[in-house]
Amino acid sequence: MRQRVLKYFNADPNHFDVVFVANATAGIKLVMEGFRDHEGGFWYGYHQDSHTSLVGVREAAKAGQRCFMTDAEVTTWLEDGGETGSSNIGNDLLLFAYPAQSNMNGRRLPLSWPKRIRSCSHGEKIYSLLDAAALVSTSPFDLSVADAAPDFTVVSFYKVFGFPDLGALIVRKESAAPLTQRSYFGGGTVDMVTCGIQNWHIKKQGSLHEQLEDGTLPIHSIIALDNALNTHARLFTSIDCVSHHVTFLAQHLYEHLAALHHYNGQRVCKIYKDPFSTYTDSKTQGPIIAFNLSNSLGHFVSNTEIEKLAAIKHIQLRSGGLCNPGGIASSLGLTPWQLERNFTAGHRCGTENDIVEGRPVGMLRVSLGAMSNLKDVENLLDFLAEFFVDKADSSQVIDTLRSREVAFSVESLTIYPIKSCGGWPIPYGIGWDLREEGLAWDREWCVVHQAGTRQALSQKKYPKMALLRPTIDLDSGLLRVRFDGPQPLLTPLEITLPLNVDSTLSTANSQDCRPTASSVCGDLIQADTYLAKNIADFFTNTIGTPCTLVRFPSVAAGLSERHSKAHLRSVGNTQVERPILLSNESPVLTISRSSLNRLNEQIKAKDGKAANASVFRANIIIAEDHASRPGCEKPYIEDDWKSLMIGNAVRLDVLGPCRRCLMVCVDQSTAEKDEEPFVTLAKTRRKEGKVYFGVHTALSSGQKHPKKIKVGDRVLPCRTDQESGVSG
Ligand SMILES: *Cc1c(COP(=O)(O)O)cnc(C)c1O
Repeated sequence: MRQRVLKYFNADPNHFDVVFVANATAGIKLVMEGFRDHEGGFWYGYHQDSHTSLVGVREAAKAGQRCFMTDAEVTTWLEDGGETGSSNIGNDLLLFAYPAQSNMNGRRLPLSWPKRIRSCSHGEKIYSLLDAAALVSTSPFDLSVADAAPDFTVVSFYKVFGFPDLGALIVRKESAAPLTQRSYFGGGTVDMVTCGIQNWHIKKQGSLHEQLEDGTLPIHSIIALDNALNTHARLFTSIDCVSHHVTFLAQHLYEHLAALHHYNGQRVCKIYKDPFSTYTDSKTQGPIIAFNLSNSLGHFVSNTEIEKLAAIKHIQLRSGGLCNPGGIASSLGLTPWQLERNFTAGHRCGTENDIVEGRPVGMLRVSLGAMSNLKDVENLLDFLAEFFVDKADSSQVIDTLRSREVAFSVESLTIYPIKSCGGWPIPYGIGWDLREEGLAWDREWCVVHQAGTRQALSQKKYPKMALLRPTIDLDSGLLRVRFDGPQPLLTPLEITLPLNVDSTLSTANSQDCRPTASSVCGDLIQADTYLAKNIADFFTNTIGTPCTLVRFPSVAAGLSERHSKAHLRSVGNTQVERPILLSNESPVLTISRSSLNRLNEQIKAKDGKAANASVFRANIIIAEDHASRPGCEKPYIEDDWKSLMIGNAVRLDVLGPCRRCLMVCVDQSTAEKDEEPFVTLAKTRRKEGKVYFGVHTALSSGQKHPKKIKVGDRVLPCRTDQESGVSG
């Protein structure tokens, strides 16, 4: 396989050796170890476009380091003879590293540098390390001229073939010396070792790879590589064909992305392309496009939101910092102090707040490979046109009917005794307690992972939780939890728990609880864990992951102070802090039937699957009175509401709009996922990249005692003077 790998890169076995490693990063670390263990240390130069894995080498460079910001800086440096300004001239090693292709935007860097580095006239020998991980997946890479080749080249085979998980460090034998100075040895790289009074060892002296491959080789992966090469050749003929194919696709995609405009002429995509590279020239540009989107007002759209929407459309995008710190910072114009400030302000790679002070802190990246086709490219373009290009006709439709008053009433009340599990409708005619922290028994329980983080489970990841249907049985004082899916082995379809913690009703010791810290939506919460094995088993077997039930009793449930740690969180734009239980953002989630009707009309107009009200997991559904004339419904009028009077004496404050995630795509009766209603919501109810439906509400502060509300109660909304914030 070593021979075959060398042949694949046109490398002469007389001049090159292959060291198998786990991945490109491991290859880079192996080079770093050799240089680090050199007595005088080493100086390290690297290009700004480097992958994080190349950047990290600088931490071991005791004799100095330099980050080259541009290609021109590298060229000037080479023309000046490779001056390093290193402190102990003559005693240190010099290493220059750069990527053959930027993993950020696919720009291809000159492959002529290793030769020029080698022939640098004055000073010591400078070694070259080429990170070819991104390049080789869509480009031929040729080592036939050993004199012009990098001293060290790293690749990851899974990036070329998809499989196996294996990488290689290709070493120019003539330049191998620094690597053999590595002090570490392990099984495989040593011939003889003694331990005890006298410590000595003799390292393997054979071929280079024998000296560098510590431990057992990934034998099966190496064998599989043979098949991967064969299969790749059978499917794609050659890497040259792949290169032609992806160059064509990338060019097509680039042209069309660049041509996307909003109705007012504003550009949709900001593409981060180097001015000197072109998508028609595979020497300067690989088939990768990095970009950000902005709306017709010129405001950037949140990448995490785009990624969510793309995911339901089966489009795989990468977003964020892309493991390329230098490239990102220079393309986005972020200075080190801004990056530091953003970090302090809570921005992390992969978090949701990816726009800071109106500027993106990351990018979107699309990569094309051997198996991409024109259809994929068209899909992406259609997707962007459908969701992110503002059309002229989407400007405000002025709803003159809004000013007319209509009467409302409570259509239904639902509680979710176990967070993220099924809802239980409060029967007609029963007045239900509403407190500041929400409706009685709402989200008082929660399922958490049994080990490790003890994180709360969510339907987003475990849709089957929708089939766990709790019922409050007030007559017998029990919470019944029924599983409405296929019965798992040795598991009953229903369990019961006493509602009252101090209950003497229960015979099982299911009420035995132990206080434990659990994490719900990122907050640590002190909750009581049920110790009974049958309870943990029930949830584990029905949901299909090791988990158990915890209880977070409400303040007013007559329990000790220890339990009353209702945590505080501000909601929406309001600065009010309120106690809440495990419901995500507010005590009571309220939606409007008319809004849902409007949404479903829009979904059905596109042959989509209408959404059942249950997917929004609201506590209160408010409907307009049947008496209102046909065609006079007031969808989304709740955007303007400030507060609600329910019945005669219960006032609810409207805290703000409810931001939606992909969980609304889980059908609550079958636990199956659909792309609706999120897709239509994203088109009709998106503001600053966030998708809204329904409003967060809470019992107005000051109303300390629990109030009762029931299905059928009249609702009197009080509206703000301003127009709605959310618009089409
Ligand atoms: C992917 C990539 C790496 C890291 O590869 P691993 O297989 O994760 O070690 C390094 N450099 C570039 C340019 C890459 O694209």
